[in-house]
Amino acid sequence: MEQPDSIRIIGGGLAGVEAAWQAARRGVGVRLYEMKPRRFSPAHQSPLLGELVCSNSLRADSVENAVGLLKEEMRRLNSLLMAAAQATRVPAGKALAVDREAFAAYLTNALEKEPLVEIVREEVTELDPDRTTVIATGPLTSDALAGQLGRITGQEHLHFYDAIAPIVYAESLDLSKVFRASRYGAGDDYLNCPFTEEEYTAFYQALTAAEQVPLRSFEEPRYFEGCLPIEVMAARGYLTLAYGPLKPVGLADPRTGRQPFAVAQLRQENREGTLYNLVGFQTKLKYGEQERVFRLIPGLEQARFARLGSIHRNTFIRSPGLLSPHLNFLKLPPLFLAGQISGVEGYVESGAMGLLAGINAAAQAL
Ligand SMILES: Cc1cc2nc3c(=O)[nH]c(=O)nc-3n(C[C@H](O)[C@H](O)[C@H](O)COP(=O)(O)OP(=O)(O)OC[C@H]3O[C@@H](n4cnc5c(N)ncnc54)[C@H](O)[C@@H]3O)c2cc1C
Repeated sequence: MEQPDSIRIIGGGLAGVEAAWQAARRGVGVRLYEMKPRRFSPAHQSPLLGELVCSNSLRADSVENAVGLLKEEMRRLNSLLMAAAQATRVPAGKALAVDREAFAAYLTNALEKEPLVEIVREEVTELDPDRTTVIATGPLTSDALAGQLGRITGQEHLHFYDAIAPIVYAESLDLSKVFRASRYGAGDDYLNCPFTEEEYTAFYQALTAAEQVPLRSFEEPRYFEGCLPIEVMAARGYLTLAYGPLKPVGLADPRTGRQPFAVAQLRQENREGTLYNLVGFQTKLKYGEQERVFRLIPGLEQARFARLGSIHRNTFIRSPGLLSPHLNFLKLPPLFLAGQISGVEGYVESGAMGLLAGINAAAQAL
């Protein structure tokens, strides 16, 4: 039963899970609402909490890098996400990557066992402005709640488009072409598909001519520059990919001893090493076109796809004018916002906002 002094957290994604954990660590009861598995957003597929919808990487692990430093700060604040990542990590060179199923299972299990957290599998459509609540419903917030937020903020929702990269089965790769290595000799965690100049040209031509999923007529094609669909990048110029996601620097093909013209990298997706993610290949090409074009990548001629790429609309709020530094609404202090909807981008950044909102919401409730 919900305790009168407990807080509500809406959304059991990265931000909501971390917020719930932090509040419980401070002795505050939490009712965590998650609409899955009754209702799934266009990108979510698993009933588990803390689902990673696209890449399985939490990016750089070194503290000399902003996202690495953020992760270290989270560790020092007893982050549940960081504990889960450590327990379920897979080899990924200098990055912290995880087995996504094991990662989400770890988080779900930890919160299910936490006596101060009650998980309610229900979509929230109405907000109670008098009750301490952390809204952590993510970039794909359900329509009813997005409408409520629109009324509260008095603003049109802002949005941009983001895309998901395909995943292939390892056993379907041609290992006579693909070689194992991380850049600059830092291990051998990645699979690398080396292109000659001719192969790159053929791939570039097929990619730029391939059919894309059209956006609806009222939708503007506004993308996040840090995660552009590969065909959008390719359209910027013949060599854009060769200096971007297909850059060959720091990699030598053991068959020739030389740096290839371009390289597509595949990152291990699960602990067993049976699945690989095409790094930087987020795309909005039609499904049939993805299979046709991506099989032009050397080593992927016979590739079988466990998941194809797709594109989604992401909603966020203009936080600087609406929220206090504690992440609650200036005009409605009991309501906190956390995660990507608060205007940050990325798994780690979203989790970090959950951590902060969880601590602050708990402090308000105490
Ligand atoms: C398609 C796509 C690909 C992305 N790829 C990457 C990537 O590769 N790397 C990266 O770092 N970041 C990526 N992001 C960005 C971002 O980091 C993730 O979306 C991240 O999961 C955001 O965390 P969150 O907790 O804010 O939201 P989410 O993790 O999306 O969690 C929100 C949760 O709220 C639930 N929910 C929604 N509405 C309601 C409601 N009304 N009631 C109850 N529950 C509700 C949802 O089911 C979901 O479980 C991607 C985003 C998208 C949309």
